[in-house]
Amino acid sequence: MKKVYFDNSATTPLAEELRDLILGSYLEDFANPSSIHSLGRAVKKKINAARSSIAAVLNAEAKEIKFLSGATEANNTVFGLLDYDLIITSPSEHASVIEAAKASRKPIIWLNLDKEGYIDLAELEKHLSENQGKLILVSIMHANSEIGTVQDLKSIGHLCKQYSAIFHSDCVQSLGKLKIDVKDLNLDLVSASAHKLHGPKGVGLLYIGRVAERMQKFSPLIVGGGQEQGFRAGTENVTGIIAFAKALEISLRPENINKVKELRAKLWLGLKDLKGAVLNGALDLEKRLTNNLNISFMDLKFNSEQLVLQLDLRGVCVSSGSACTSNKKKFEDSFIESSYVLRACHIDENIAKRAIRISLSWMNDETELEKLTEIITKLV
Ligand code: PLP
Repeated sequence: MKKVYFDNSATTPLAEELRDLILGSYLEDFANPSSIHSLGRAVKKKINAARSSIAAVLNAEAKEIKFLSGATEANNTVFGLLDYDLIITSPSEHASVIEAAKASRKPIIWLNLDKEGYIDLAELEKHLSENQGKLILVSIMHANSEIGTVQDLKSIGHLCKQYSAIFHSDCVQSLGKLKIDVKDLNLDLVSASAHKLHGPKGVGLLYIGRVAERMQKFSPLIVGGGQEQGFRAGTENVTGIIAFAKALEISLRPENINKVKELRAKLWLGLKDLKGAVLNGALDLEKRLTNNLNISFMDLKFNSEQLVLQLDLRGVCVSSGSACTSNKKKFEDSFIESSYVLRACHIDENIAKRAIRISLSWMNDETELEKLTEIITKLV
């Protein structure tokens, strides 16, 4: 039985179009891009073409895009790169932001979240204004990976500019789905990853914009070579980088962007009136990540993990939260913790423990939606 895959926020299947490109690139682009001979220079040219095409999507300069192994590395790099005094972030960030922020040993202010997962801009401004004179690193993700809440990056960026704070955003879930203009949003640092948009695993990027001018010195996470203008040592993942740029181009095709929105609208229509269905995260679908639904089915006797396994038995893959959650605690008679994101949003534990995340992609189709809707309807 071919599985129906609705866990695209965890990772995505490779876009079919990339198959030949990747195989061809592995065979042809083998030279080391740091080699000065013609083969090396040709490969470097391809990396830089990929850099330029991704930079254009972000309205950035090509030299501001640094390639690395993925968003976990990008987020870790952010917190070790420069010398700041204070971090302002939120408790619903990805584990790689939360853990890297803690590991920096700098003071951290955790912003409060409302029930839909939004930060409070007035609270952010209060902390920025109370800490004037300090170099502050603000790190707020664009779209939450579990509940799909999209933060108002424009207003956050505006505040960061006003108080001369550095603004980082983990845009892993939004790149390829939502518009990200680093200039318009006043972003200094952006993390992203290819495998969330039908590209290969093991390649990501860190955008380092105007903050580079404020760096007298910087500390790369990985040293031992001058690649990526000294920001990230190690021979580049040439094929991964080339495929990343193509994957982003494919994701941004209007037909793919629209298809995801339409599929999500249809799925919600099929599920929203089921008895006991509760939508977690942003209630206004327009303000929600286009591929995300996070729902608790209160009339089912299953907790999140049990429902994920029940659906899997019936051929559908969804998730009970972020794939990276650890520190499980005992919950009723099964070993499951409710999502730390939902807890940070003060969601009732009874609702949180039943939440499942359904994350779609343009590779899904209506038959798959019907299958999921039918299974859940029968279960309810
Ligand atoms: N940030 C967010 C929001 C994510 O969803 C993920 C992946 O789960 C990451 C960071 C880590 O990305 P990567 O797998 O490229 O290290």
